[in-house]
Amino acid sequence: MKTAIVNKIIPFSNVDGPGNRTAIFFQGCSFACLYCHNPETIHLCRHCGECVEQCPVNALSMKNGKVVWDDEICCECDTCIKVCPHLSSPKTKLMKVADIVEYIKPHVAFIEGITVSGGECMLQADFLLELFKEMKKMGLTCLIDSNGTVDFRKHTSLLDISDGVMLDVKAFDNDFHRQICKYDNLSVKQNLDYLQSIHKLLEVRTVLLPNQDEQNEATVNYVSKCLKEGITYKLLRFRPYGVRFEGVEYFGKESVSEEYAEKFKNIVLKNGHNDIIIV
Ligand code: SF4
Ligand code: SF4
Ligand code: SF4
Repeated sequence: MKTAIVNKIIPFSNVDGPGNRTAIFFQGCSFACLYCHNPETIHLCRHCGECVEQCPVNALSMKNGKVVWDDEICCECDTCIKVCPHLSSPKTKLMKVADIVEYIKPHVAFIEGITVSGGECMLQADFLLELFKEMKKMGLTCLIDSNGTVDFRKHTSLLDISDGVMLDVKAFDNDFHRQICKYDNLSVKQNLDYLQSIHKLLEVRTVLLPNQDEQNEATVNYVSKCLKEGITYKLLRFRPYGVRFEGVEYFGKESVSEEYAEKFKNIVLKNGHNDIIIV
């Protein structure tokens, strides 16, 4: 049975897709966004051991060259992820599909479905296929929250069984995309078109960045002009919480205001797309 490294599971979430859902965050990402709110999900742990001594309750230790996390005594202070120089976390778990099934069983009556996220969950596409098959047997819906780097055209079986994709479109301009995410956006644009064409696109999200009026406008224009009716466009106001120093330096410490976001909402409406939410 396949395994995957899981950063965390939130049993009940109402911000990861419609209804009450269990959100599963996989470790490892194909981007390294300057404004990432969960930068500890970006890389796999290198087992350098630098966080071990910093743990105030000795929940971390080294065994056979690998860091071991004792979740029974961890007090969730997050010191380890703050001191990790590699944008990683020692608080991950190697899980089988069966482990996740066991975790979810007691919650089934209270949730509509699951959402897989990250990091970038599509890096674990084969694992997701097995997982979704099990979730469907339990009567749950399965949503994918993706940054759009992996080519969805190569994962038609997964898409067939899934109930939809929530896709990040971080920037229209490729040079700017490379600047803020470290990688280009060609696959993101391709996936946007493809997922719409097969009616699997549920939602698109763009973070409105401070001090980036032109880039925000270009992205919002691009997305709102190509989105079909019925697909939600979510404009996320930048907030500095959780963002590592490099990102805060680049964007500034201020959150994007509601008024600033309204300006971009009006662009979306002017372009004829009415399904728009500011978060
Ligand atoms: S794609 Fe998401 S998880 Fe990955 S680095 Fe960017 S913001 Fe963070
Ligand atoms: S979490 Fe970071 S600091 Fe800790 S062992 Fe892994 S790579 Fe090193
Ligand atoms: S979050 Fe847990 S493992 Fe990490 S430093 Fe705090 S107590 Fe230790």
